[in-house]
Amino acid sequence: MDADSRPLHFTTRAVTAGRPAAVPDAPLNTPVVLASTYGSFGELEYGRYANPTWTAFEDVLGDLEGGTCISFASGMAAIGAVLDLVPTGGTVVAPRHSYTGTVARLQELEARGALRTAWVDITDTAAVVEAARGAALVWLESPTNPALELADIAAIVRGAHAVDALVAVDNTFATPLLQRPIEHGADLVVHSVTKYLAGHSDLLMGAVVTADADLAARVTGSRTLGGATPSAFEAFLALRGVRTLAVRLERAQATAQRLVRRLEAHGGVAEVRYPGFGAIVSVVLRDAAAADALVHGVQLWRAATSLGGVESTLERRRRWSSEAPTIPEGLVRLSVGLEDTNDLWDDLAQALDAVGA
Ligand SMILES: *Cc1c(COP(=O)(O)O)cnc(C)c1O
Repeated sequence: MDADSRPLHFTTRAVTAGRPAAVPDAPLNTPVVLASTYGSFGELEYGRYANPTWTAFEDVLGDLEGGTCISFASGMAAIGAVLDLVPTGGTVVAPRHSYTGTVARLQELEARGALRTAWVDITDTAAVVEAARGAALVWLESPTNPALELADIAAIVRGAHAVDALVAVDNTFATPLLQRPIEHGADLVVHSVTKYLAGHSDLLMGAVVTADADLAARVTGSRTLGGATPSAFEAFLALRGVRTLAVRLERAQATAQRLVRRLEAHGGVAEVRYPGFGAIVSVVLRDAAAADALVHGVQLWRAATSLGGVESTLERRRRWSSEAPTIPEGLVRLSVGLEDTNDLWDDLAQALDAVGA
């Protein structure tokens, strides 16, 4: 292949996509455009319809996932826009272990008769495909939060498409660096941009990506009328985060893999759950008290919900009443950040040693 036709590598596109045209005196980065309205007769018109800073972010995430990106005020707003695609009374197949907000939203929509949910074990591909019969949408999260189970996305897509169900994948944990669901045939990809894409625990944002023009128009319409638009400043920061996604996640993943080996060898840990990639690790301690003692015993790690920032955080998930009852009481989810591996391990080890086996 000659240089002109060779597609650019993912890590290159994460840096180059969504830049203003390279002309003299143009800024290299799209600035924060603060505007509620624009001069008439162009393409933007009004601040709830479009914003150049969102567009710069959407250009890069769309490029990385392989579709058109529509950004939202939060991950939950993006999830809501995808659930808006389900016709009244339609069925959504969803993982019993998934983001608590997704579960709560589905339960709330079901309670007021808007849709029906069929809960499945996402690792049981045959059961998921069976449940897709007659469903409008199959919702996947892989790896799941916080059980870290994996779905066979390609096989589920084949089965769901055979019975005319759409497939949406919450790709927050993997990011397009590690998993690109549209390449496996998924119709829609959803992100909590808040996590790895933005990467610094300083903003909330969400996104939907789809390669289907009709779905893109409907999701855009949902944002326009729902009004859950991101702020230009957050879009600017999120785009800045995406520029370093590859180096951040590669480093965090390498550290997570080293920590997993040490955690597996520690007598105080009953079980380590790690899907083999990414930088989220769940450890199961003997009970809630031991898990709480770990969370309170660390000093470098920060006890905090959320994940995907440069700083390492941890939390016992069942402290939330909304967490699934099938998640063990002693499960602590670790979000591995960019600190030195040995510093992170020393802190975990002293806290685990204090908890005892
Ligand atoms: C955090 C999260 C969400 C929700 O995103 P917000 O930006 O907090 O609204 C959805 N899915 C997953 C997997 C998440 O981790």
